[in-house]
Amino acid sequence: MMEDRDIGLKALENDVRRDLSRLNWPSPNWVLPGSVDGGEPALDVLIIGGGLCGQTAAFALMREGVRNFRIVERQPEGQEGPWATFARMDTLRSPKHLTGPELGVPSLTFRAWYEALNGQAAWDELYKIARLDWAHYLLWVRRVLALPIENRTEASDIRFSGGHVQATLRGPRGQEIVHARKVVLALGRDGSGAPRWPRFASFSPESEHSKARIFHSAGAIDFEALRAKSIGVLGAGASAFDNAGTALEAGAVEVALFARRTYLPQVNKSKWTSFPGFLHGFHSLDDARRWRFFTYIFSEQVPPPFESALRCEKFPGFKAHIGEPWTDLCADAKGVTVTSAKGTHRFDAVIVATGFDVDMMARPEVAAFREQATTWADRVSPAEALAHPEEARFPYLGDGFQLLEKTPGAHPGLARVHVFNWGCTMSHGALAGDIPGVAIGANRLAEAIVRDLFVEDADRHFSALLAHEEEELKATALYVPKDRR
Ligand SMILES: Cc1cc2nc3c(=O)[nH]c(=O)nc-3n(C[C@H](O)[C@H](O)[C@H](O)COP(=O)(O)OP(=O)(O)OC[C@H]3O[C@@H](n4cnc5c(N)ncnc54)[C@H](O)[C@@H]3O)c2cc1C
Repeated sequence: MMEDRDIGLKALENDVRRDLSRLNWPSPNWVLPGSVDGGEPALDVLIIGGGLCGQTAAFALMREGVRNFRIVERQPEGQEGPWATFARMDTLRSPKHLTGPELGVPSLTFRAWYEALNGQAAWDELYKIARLDWAHYLLWVRRVLALPIENRTEASDIRFSGGHVQATLRGPRGQEIVHARKVVLALGRDGSGAPRWPRFASFSPESEHSKARIFHSAGAIDFEALRAKSIGVLGAGASAFDNAGTALEAGAVEVALFARRTYLPQVNKSKWTSFPGFLHGFHSLDDARRWRFFTYIFSEQVPPPFESALRCEKFPGFKAHIGEPWTDLCADAKGVTVTSAKGTHRFDAVIVATGFDVDMMARPEVAAFREQATTWADRVSPAEALAHPEEARFPYLGDGFQLLEKTPGAHPGLARVHVFNWGCTMSHGALAGDIPGVAIGANRLAEAIVRDLFVEDADRHFSALLAHEEEELKATALYVPKDRR
């Protein structure tokens, strides 16, 4: 017997198929076959990363009739992105009505999926989207669209060869080298750099004791093992509170959270950017204005969601040490000693929730050409770059998220690489970093890629135009055969 939830979902999937067929999905392929210099076939696009941005980019490209692409994801199915791995909040921060991965198709929205499973009354009552519901929804979108994501397949060593981009893939098919006319780096927020570890004289993340007792919030943490333990948390953003809350709910007896600032940020400035004018228009601003907007937004920092703070505050074992920066951190066989500006604390374990270092161009995937790509440091004065080193490390991207060469004409192949993750934020706003911008971002990316694929083949397309001989009037008395024209 099918349950109501299954019946609801089946009916919705029929709606999706009907909506998509009305939009002529899947669009026929129009891109002319490409090959590398030696004649080997080339993909039109290789998408690296099958999370929110990668899968939405794949959907957008398929809608534009790009079919000769591959999308690879190093994690197993269901483990893409943060949602079911290191994200530890109960609900998304964003409001429940947010859209994005559905690219404007109503039956593909989170709301349609949720109502199909739980009914409209449940949607009306829903406060915010549960984290794992969001992960399941993304997987459903992927399944119903039959997006060809290849899991457990890692891409590395991207370089230019034969006028195209070459990448090494390692996955269930073994190791292979693929060629592509375009590469999309949808590597994620951590894929814009790496988890940031704090620096203290007595702390080495690699030491045996550190590995056993000091964890990064973006890593795997066995919270069951923290039952009845005392935990120190460094940081006061969303991840700090969500990791503290998860530890308390798992039975930690004491969780002490430390923030350097004397009071936490109270306003989420980046939330303000989530309106069509900003999302569509930001990229068209001059460098000085773009730099001003995001250096300001980043310097204001983001408060934790109040739900995450309340989650912790209801436990008597929770204490927030605001205005108490750490000055040293040292793990030994029995625990961790934290030295702060106000004294010494001893914990069984420590979680550092210090976010990610954005240094997109330091990623191993782009090692072969990192020196040639323009970053924001090349576009602002040395004094500005020194004042805002993280912002200065963001790649400086073109109108279609493509990398730009430092010296014009020296490395034109760089424009074959499109950065569609958090690394695009200084250039385009959060069109590949937060959910509300992803539809605008994926459409902009797809439009730029199809434009470039067409322009590159313009002469071949002209030949195809000359060869186009579909005679429209053949069935009528007005028909004139070709040899009489
Ligand atoms: C904890 C947390 C909570 C968030 N909550 C919200 C929220 O409430 N609302 C909101 O709007 N945004 C939120 N975000 C921001 C954003 O929506 C997410 O980070 C989202 O996952 C970004 O999608 P993405 O595709 O860029 O990255 P991801 O979802 O991380 O996907 C990137 C994928 O690339 C893969 N990958 C990386 N390198 C390679 C490689 N070399 N080869 C193959 N695969 C590779 C990774 O395995 C990963 O699955 C949150 C982010 C975090 C970290």
